Amino acid sequence: MRKPIIAGNWKMYKTVSEAKDFATKLKPLVADVHDRTILVCPPLTHLQDVCDILCDSNVAVGAQNLFWEDEGAFTGEVSAPMLKSVGCTYVIIGHSERRQYFGETDGTVNKKIFAALKHNLLPIVCVGETLEQREKNETFKVIERQIKEGTKGLGTGDWEKIIIAYEPVWAIGTGKTATPEQAQEVHAYIRKLLPKDVAANIRILYGGSVKPENIKELMAKPDIDGGLVGGASLKVDSFVKLIKY
Ligand code: PEP
Repeated sequence: MRKPIIAGNWKMYKTVSEAKDFATKLKPLVADVHDRTILVCPPLTHLQDVCDILCDSNVAVGAQNLFWEDEGAFTGEVSAPMLKSVGCTYVIIGHSERRQYFGETDGTVNKKIFAALKHNLLPIVCVGETLEQREKNETFKVIERQIKEGTKGLGTGDWEKIIIAYEPVWAIGTGKTATPEQAQEVHAYIRKLLPKDVAANIRILYGGSVKPENIKELMAKPDIDGGLVGGASLKVDSFVKLIKY
């Protein structure tokens, strides 16, 4: 049985005090939820405070990115040991916004996965096609390349810690959700690409305009194991509804 994950990606939203307020309000509202993993991924500057508030709760905290070296002259970057030191347990890797605006590639995704695993951070590895690629019937080819190149060299023990997020780029922040059937088709395809001995245990999240109104039908699909949610994770009410779908 794969435990569902509901993850909130806050992107570059909220001040520290707004983030603290969110964490403080969220904690008691979901204290009774044990059959799914709850995760928030605030901006870097907020991680310590949010981790401090949530450390004794059932809400995990993740980062939105990391660099692959442990330390060094890499101005502006943050490493896996640094994220661990503030209490993070997850990290999003290869989000389409990082690929689009910050030049991330399947090669950098691969290095970041190994860096996260080395320090026991659980990677949420994002893949997804653009609208142009979907219209050219390249969805499966793109996904296959992203999965194969991004996860090259992982052993069975590594795979047990990996979470995949399928996020069609055309559905992120656009209000256009993939239909449950479209999402399921790609999720099933991704699962077939994973090593046979671990495929049934790996959680594959869907991301792209997930909202309280559509999460139930997405989660009803056999290969959809959770949501990576941007916009609808920013308000406590809406995030709690998503968690308790
Ligand atoms: C995301 O941040 O990964 C995302 C899917 O955003 P949204 O839910 O706003 O589309």
